[in-house]
Amino acid sequence: MYRPMTIACSFSLLIVFTHAVPQEFRDQTIDRKTPEWALKKINKPALRTGLEYLDKGLFENLPTVAYEAKEWFQEYIPQWCLDQSSNKDNGFDPAKDIKVYDIRYTDCAMPWVVCIHNDSPMDINGFAGLFSRIPVSSRSFVRHVLTVPGDSEAGANTDGDIVFENLSSDDVATIIHEVGHSLDKFAYDEQLSFSSDWVDKTSKDKSVPNTYAGSSAIEDVAESSIVATYNMLVPGGFPKIESRWVEVRNQYETVQTWQREKANTVMRPGGSCRKRFKNSDTVERPSTKRLLRGRWAPWRRSPKPGTSLPEGMEVIQPGHFESGRCVRKH
Ligand SMILES: [Zn+2]
Repeated sequence: MYRPMTIACSFSLLIVFTHAVPQEFRDQTIDRKTPEWALKKINKPALRTGLEYLDKGLFENLPTVAYEAKEWFQEYIPQWCLDQSSNKDNGFDPAKDIKVYDIRYTDCAMPWVVCIHNDSPMDINGFAGLFSRIPVSSRSFVRHVLTVPGDSEAGANTDGDIVFENLSSDDVATIIHEVGHSLDKFAYDEQLSFSSDWVDKTSKDKSVPNTYAGSSAIEDVAESSIVATYNMLVPGGFPKIESRWVEVRNQYETVQTWQREKANTVMRPGGSCRKRFKNSDTVERPSTKRLLRGRWAPWRRSPKPGTSLPEGMEVIQPGHFESGRCVRKH
């Protein structure tokens, strides 16, 4: 069952959707200025209002991967999760509202460190199962995730870190959309949504896949990632379910071509876990610091969780990009 869904990301620099780039990365961080045209509305009709008609095929062809989720000791939290949940406007208390987990999937030697707000619609198992459907070579382009409650279903990807608001178990398209932003920013030697190849090829298309894709080239790439994934994985492809497929073919085919030629076909199930981002620093929660100053003795502290990259894992060069604004109907 699918509920209408809105994704709301904001260009206004809401603290909840932004974070500072760790100091040690600054020298080697990719900084890309968003071209003005990539933010402009696309003046084409939409084939559909939403893409919910693709969800059944996506669920059936994106298998889950086994995992083990282990909660961190209460004293510790990743700096990024602390920053996101410390925004006074959202009313969250990082000292007690957020649980931190390692999710270790069987297809990767390095776990993902995710933060789950206690009032999120999905618990850790709900999220870990849904996230497992993203093929590992694409999942690798996500660093941290924070799920939070909210009035509407929303998501935002900033520099490979994703905040999901009110995410539910039927939102496979939302996860592909947000991972699509990661791939756009990090998987290729240049950003697909900023490239002349994207402009040249997609200018021939008569329509955009759905209403939300028309909001900008950046969002069109993310929505076309959903269509491309469907086309690659579901037998018969997109033309079998969409009679007007030819009107948007250059959009999803360009995403597929870039994934195949520049990123080793990242949205196919299976594959390997060869590269990951370096995790953000592990820090103490504010309340724990207070406790330590009081009756807690330092030697009673729990061991700090290890979050380093395993030997041989390639480090994805971190980026610092201007955030995009998105409002999509599911
Ligand atoms: Zn988006």
